[in-house]
Amino acid sequence: MEHGSRNLWYRTIYNSLPTAERLFRLGLQDLTSATCRLCNDDIDTPAHLLVLCRHRHSVWNLIWGQHYYRAAY
Ligand SMILES: [Zn+2]
Repeated sequence: MEHGSRNLWYRTIYNSLPTAERLFRLGLQDLTSATCRLCNDDIDTPAHLLVLCRHRHSVWNLIWGQHYYRAAY
């Protein structure tokens, strides 16, 4: 498994993805809310970051497709 994939997997399992919700809660960035900065539709949770955000969806599809093709060969 590539380092980036392993890092994403680890951060997902241990709830340490840099979501707006987490960064806002920890005060690590100058955020005024925990709402997703891309779509402004919902709180930026790990589920929103990985699955639900309509702006990130096409990017994730591209990334998952690249990893799937690499794993197939
Ligand atoms: Zn979003």
